[in-house]
Amino acid sequence: MSEYQTCDFLVVGSGLAGLAFALTAAEYGSVIVLTKGEVQESNTSYAQGGIAAAVGEADSWKLHEEDTLVAGAGLCDPKAVRALVQNAPSAIQWLISIGAKFDFGEDGMLALGREGGHGMHRIVHHADKTGWEIERAVVAAVKREPRITVFDHSFATRLLTHEGRCVGVEAKIDTLGSRYFLGRAVMLATGGCGRMYQHTTNPAVATADGIGLAAQVGAKIANMEFMQFHPTTLYHPQMRSFLITEAVRGAGGTLRNHLGRRFMYDYDERLELAPRDIVARAIDAEMKRLGTWCVYLDTTHLKPELLKHEFPTIYEKLLSIDIEMEKDWIPIVPAQHYSCGGIVTDLQGRTNIPGLYAAGEVASTGVHGANRLASNSLLEALVFAKAAGEAVGSEPEAAREGSSDTKVKPIHEAESVRLRRTLGRLMTANVGIVRTNAGLAEAKAGVQQLLKEYESLPEAAFSRHPLETHNLLLGAQYVVEGAIARKANVGLHYNKDLEAKPN
Ligand SMILES: Cc1cc2nc3c(=O)[nH]c(=O)nc-3n(C[C@H](O)[C@H](O)[C@H](O)COP(=O)(O)OP(=O)(O)OC[C@H]3O[C@@H](n4cnc5c(N)ncnc54)[C@H](O)[C@@H]3O)c2cc1C
Repeated sequence: MSEYQTCDFLVVGSGLAGLAFALTAAEYGSVIVLTKGEVQESNTSYAQGGIAAAVGEADSWKLHEEDTLVAGAGLCDPKAVRALVQNAPSAIQWLISIGAKFDFGEDGMLALGREGGHGMHRIVHHADKTGWEIERAVVAAVKREPRITVFDHSFATRLLTHEGRCVGVEAKIDTLGSRYFLGRAVMLATGGCGRMYQHTTNPAVATADGIGLAAQVGAKIANMEFMQFHPTTLYHPQMRSFLITEAVRGAGGTLRNHLGRRFMYDYDERLELAPRDIVARAIDAEMKRLGTWCVYLDTTHLKPELLKHEFPTIYEKLLSIDIEMEKDWIPIVPAQHYSCGGIVTDLQGRTNIPGLYAAGEVASTGVHGANRLASNSLLEALVFAKAAGEAVGSEPEAAREGSSDTKVKPIHEAESVRLRRTLGRLMTANVGIVRTNAGLAEAKAGVQQLLKEYESLPEAAFSRHPLETHNLLLGAQYVVEGAIARKANVGLHYNKDLEAKPN
């Protein structure tokens, strides 16, 4: 091993999970954060609606717990859910203490929004760009902390192990080339995997890298079939998959088909505020029933001041394509949004591989079960990354050596683009909101074929894209295999061929 650097704790990813972990772990030693783009490039930066916490006067962690368990459709880990909801108010306080600015009401209390599946107003927010504000605050706090060093444009390619422990990371740094990092513990906080679908709300960095890295060293991965599709993303050629937060429906926005019918009456008594999977499936069914490419979100009955004040980013974006929220219906379609499954961890982020931790969207703590309750994901990233940051203090000294016998070769970028497009079409057609046995079998064969094709292509000079594509293919395998193995319709997993025989 030629070039290596040692620290106490290594982090891959600079979203909320990675940076909350870094800030907490810095109490116990030096931290290096590797992130593949600019530091703020993450799903976190795009979160709109907010972060859930029972901080309202009439609310309690018990009510938040109940709503989370109902959304999870019987598959949540109750201990994980309790840890999540009980720690939520202090997690919000921590964000405020490091400088995050949330909206407050005239009474001096946090202004709380309401989203689908929540029985109370409990969404702490910063207008409609809560994630952007949270990311700004954690990045600023990291910059103030001398024990944390951030390497941006640094792509983690492999995990290093020694005698069964995860001891480090190999990374390609744009300006420095290959580097090896060793530490007492490695935290994977690489976010989601939305880019395996044709339509996703996730930014370009969401390429299942953590799943690929963890799979290489034998980490346990579960529940990947529970893929959440956001019901309301803009249907427009110039702004593919721009999210229209659930909070718009929370504020009174209604869904209509092209004939003007408020069709949620035909699907669920909770109407537009039914859990996301139900709303997404209803939209899918309505579009298929009527043969249309989209349905509409109607906000024309809401006060223009409210729309401009509560949803300034969405309002401006829509205006830029000549949609006026107070006058026009907004064309929308569902798109992949969130991965509920991931690397299995305990409540302190530990995986089954000693020394390897995971937190945030890449992890499967058990809080989401078969379906995530809106605005619980930023919360999960924060609560469990902080718990892991406390736990790593007791990890042994950093190893002096580490190795890896897995190496994925880069292929030519044009080939990578082609394989990724095929994967996107395959996953969207067969492993989307509504699945079938035949579709899943086709997806399984298709993903295997794409992996074979990848292996057979000649090696090319290093670039990020092909290695990300390889990770997406590995991640897709877990999604498809999980969906095939799941023999009952539950939460986000809906297979038409199982309709007649639920659990
Ligand atoms: C449009 C949108 C709106 C959302 N709205 C909400 C909301 O209102 N409320 C809510 O609770 N949740 C929301 N979510 C979900 C939530 O934002 C994410 O689940 C959460 O931010 C994930 O945080 P994270 O830290 O786990 O990952 P991320 O924030 O995605 O960070 C992952 C980091 O890992 C880095 N990375 C990945 N692979 C590598 C690699 N190989 N090497 C180095 N670095 C790597 C990335 O560059 C990035 O910095 C939304 C998501 C989207 C996309």
